[in-house]
Amino acid sequence: MTGTVPTSSLRARAEIDLGALRGNVRALRARLAPGAGLMAVVKSDAYGHGALPCARASLDAGAAWLGTATPHEALALRAAGVKAPILCWLWTPGDPWREAIEAGLDMSVSAMWALREVTEAAREAGRTARIQLKADTGLGRNGCQPADWPELVAAARAAEVAGTVRVTGLWSHFACADEPGHPSTAAQLDVFHELVAYAEKAGIEPEVRHIANSPAALTLPESHFDLVRTGIALYGISPSSELGSSADFGLRPVMTLTASVALVKRVPEGHGVSYGHRYRTPAETTLGLIPLGYADGVPRHASGRGPVLVGGAVRRVAGRIAMDQFVVDLGTGPDADAVQEGAPAVLFGPGDRGEPTAADWAEAADTIAYEIVTRIGPRVPRVYVDGADGQEEGVGADGRGAGR
Ligand SMILES: *Cc1c(COP(=O)(O)O)cnc(C)c1O
Repeated sequence: MTGTVPTSSLRARAEIDLGALRGNVRALRARLAPGAGLMAVVKSDAYGHGALPCARASLDAGAAWLGTATPHEALALRAAGVKAPILCWLWTPGDPWREAIEAGLDMSVSAMWALREVTEAAREAGRTARIQLKADTGLGRNGCQPADWPELVAAARAAEVAGTVRVTGLWSHFACADEPGHPSTAAQLDVFHELVAYAEKAGIEPEVRHIANSPAALTLPESHFDLVRTGIALYGISPSSELGSSADFGLRPVMTLTASVALVKRVPEGHGVSYGHRYRTPAETTLGLIPLGYADGVPRHASGRGPVLVGGAVRRVAGRIAMDQFVVDLGTGPDADAVQEGAPAVLFGPGDRGEPTAADWAEAADTIAYEIVTRIGPRVPRVYVDGADGQEEGVGADGRGAGR
């Protein structure tokens, strides 16, 4: 813990409700097929929520594994004392294989170059590396093509016999699990079954086989195998409105983004607002200045559209969102007149106190809610609270999760 900052003086804050996060882990676990465990995906600073506090809260609530993209993210969790199994899957030549082996991480291997680097690092370290072979069952992104699978499996099996690696997992990733009934999903499952059977026939005995992300965890029990890897659902956000809302799945959004109104002023009719004058006041009105901008991750694409709860009503961003600030037109009603500097402006939250949600911002910015929460920048401190008892747990003074 690096120290607490007086929260009442904060320009803006992202409140992270760890009680909601734990509730989401429990809600997800309750949906899992028998025998399946949960991997909490905490890549990219836990989708902007703070990797370490979210990793710990997820483990407290029964997650069995953690997942990160880069080895550096996984090593940071180990350095902070996290002992749970961690899989990291996005490797580049020259990455820290040896440190990862010594930290007891599970390392994803999609190709022969990675197998060569990891076996060499294991020989140097004098330790057996834990690797998980990743198949491309149809996503067309990372993973080993089915045509190359026999070569990778044979080489991995030979490395197992030589004692340099242990293949702890066989895994893959869906392309369209968020589109109900998309034919590629069933096709990917078929290919995954085949590739797993091939590897097992070659003598590999994985601890875990896994392919499901949040949408598959929520809707496709036949894809759960031994583990599901949930990211967005953990943070209480539905993977897509087509599948359903957060509430439909018993999930509660974890992040609430709030700013303090920095200035309130009366302006005449026809006043241009913000760069480019894309908004002009239709009548004499009151403007409120919100001290958050695109440098904080408020998408400029939502200029003129993004919703904000301030002064008892949801207002729209007036004109362009700038780097550090934007403006809302508060109008002239009694609610608007009551707004003073320092009043809370809620950009998004769980949505049950009249505030918009990250999904609403995603719609306003023509993107997905994943991008909204993930991009909230380091200038916005994360304040950890526990919705179960409303207690504040501390602020990451560096803007990253240091609480707990
Ligand atoms: C990000 C990621 C996940 C989690 O996806 P969600 O849709 O957020 O649940 C799972 N697996 C891999 C390989 C990922 O990159």
